[in-house]
Amino acid sequence: MSSEHWPGIDFFILMLTRCRVSTLSIIKLTVIGLSILSGLSACQTGSFSSSANPLSKAAEPLQQEDSDPVAVSETPLLTPTPQEMSESTPQPTEGKAEMITITIVFDNYPYKERMQTAWRFSAFVTYKDQNVLFDTGGSGLTLLENMSEMNINPAEVQNVVLSHKHNDHTAGLQALLSAGADPKIYLLPSFSSSFKKQFSQQAEVIEVVPGLLIAERISTLGEIQGSPPEQALVIDTPRGLVVITGCAHPGVVKIVLAAKRQFKEEIYLEMGGFHLGSSSSYQVKQIIKEIQRIGVVHVAPCHCTGDQAISQFREAFGENFISVGAGAVIEIES
Ligand SMILES: [Zn+2]
Ligand SMILES: [Zn+2]
Repeated sequence: MSSEHWPGIDFFILMLTRCRVSTLSIIKLTVIGLSILSGLSACQTGSFSSSANPLSKAAEPLQQEDSDPVAVSETPLLTPTPQEMSESTPQPTEGKAEMITITIVFDNYPYKERMQTAWRFSAFVTYKDQNVLFDTGGSGLTLLENMSEMNINPAEVQNVVLSHKHNDHTAGLQALLSAGADPKIYLLPSFSSSFKKQFSQQAEVIEVVPGLLIAERISTLGEIQGSPPEQALVIDTPRGLVVITGCAHPGVVKIVLAAKRQFKEEIYLEMGGFHLGSSSSYQVKQIIKEIQRIGVVHVAPCHCTGDQAISQFREAFGENFISVGAGAVIEIES
């Protein structure tokens, strides 16, 4: 759609894995070690109206290899070749460009071998020497195991941003603190007083306001009203904004519009849960039209988006659709 306005965008997002030796298996999207879907959350309730098993469907987007040139390639490495770089990517004038890295630590969709999957979401964002863990999944043990698999030291987590109150986004926090992390915890003013009290005894707890800067280039949208209220993470990149939504309960269109207005920039990538599992294909179609009208360049839906909705986004966005899941790493040049 808008790729003509974003020349060479295909190579600004590089789908990687930190375990290069298993690149081939990632390309083939072999999935092992699926964990049992457990810990039903308020997110799940009402988000999947069908009785289909989300686990069996979870691999579906990853099997449609032909339609996703970013995540799936016949090339052994998913990084661009030097020739591609010179053709498509502006070269840094000096030194190595700093990369903004987004690692999906937890999701119900599989991506990398040995990563556990379940109905949960967590993403780890780094830029320079700063980092933000956005959501903590729904199980401390598996969060820490997945972090270990991605070589993320829990004790080095500097900031935790909780998108909303549901367990599949917050329940890993205690285990993270117990593992030695001493992060600033950014939560919504509407969180329960008992939750705030529990964690303010262990760490610095900050109630967010719109546009609050959490780390260099990384901000929160602030509390967006919905059922329940939610905040999204907004990363300012030279290509535009990257918006990460946990569940997008207030509505994914409402959230990306708010980000565009608040930060006065275009949306380069919207990723995370879009919460469309119970929406009809017609409703999803209308939402996709809105997302495209707003000018969102790339989408990477996962978590509670819903299998049918993910398929529709894949078809609508074509090469600008990015398949993600637990263990996917997105790098964006800054
Ligand atoms: Zn939720
Ligand atoms: Zn959720």
